[in-house]
Amino acid sequence: MKDHRQILLANKAWAAELLDEDAEYFTRQVAGQRPKFLWIGCSDSRVSPEQMTQTQPGGMFIHRNIANLVNPEDLNLMSVIQFAVDVLEVPNIVLCGHHGCGGIKATLDGGATGPVDRWLDTARAVRHAHADEIEALPEGEARVNRFVEVNVRDQLLNLARTATVQGAFARGRELVLHGWVYDIRDGLLKPLMEIDRGTTLDEIGRPDRVLVPTAELDAA
Ligand code: ZN
Repeated sequence: MKDHRQILLANKAWAAELLDEDAEYFTRQVAGQRPKFLWIGCSDSRVSPEQMTQTQPGGMFIHRNIANLVNPEDLNLMSVIQFAVDVLEVPNIVLCGHHGCGGIKATLDGGATGPVDRWLDTARAVRHAHADEIEALPEGEARVNRFVEVNVRDQLLNLARTATVQGAFARGRELVLHGWVYDIRDGLLKPLMEIDRGTTLDEIGRPDRVLVPTAELDAA
């Protein structure tokens, strides 16, 4: 069977199963959304935020892009953040990277062309700013994964500096930004850092303030 027919059939089975369990399920969905999370993650097909967290429809407002980058000039993401924070009033934003990220690999190795190459400028800036930390590791998986983690930290800082998030903090909103990494090897999410309205961003941005080393995360 053609792939697209297969997923349409799967969708029918999914909807029927939900209705079977709960006849009001879709009636409630029509009433509106009140998600507790905005998720900003990579577009990678292996990193599926709702499945990996067992979140039901309505639980997460989602934005995904290559290498989970936060660029203040990206109108798409800036609108998503504005709507999620100001209108939906989500109390949490998760920014999630993942080990083995193709976008991060391409930033290290070069070779990207066209729009992807331009898109990766934001990741290139991270590499330049933290070259010592990233290049201290041997080439290959370890270096890519460290870059992934450093990228999560810098993108979380970019997120914290957006006008929408700064505005919410200034108004005293209980909004927490979470920086996580998803490990494709074991399917587990690993928290790296948090920012809330009491966090001093200058301190987090200091180069000597490193993330939890991967080895410790593995042991946690
Ligand atoms: Zn990725």
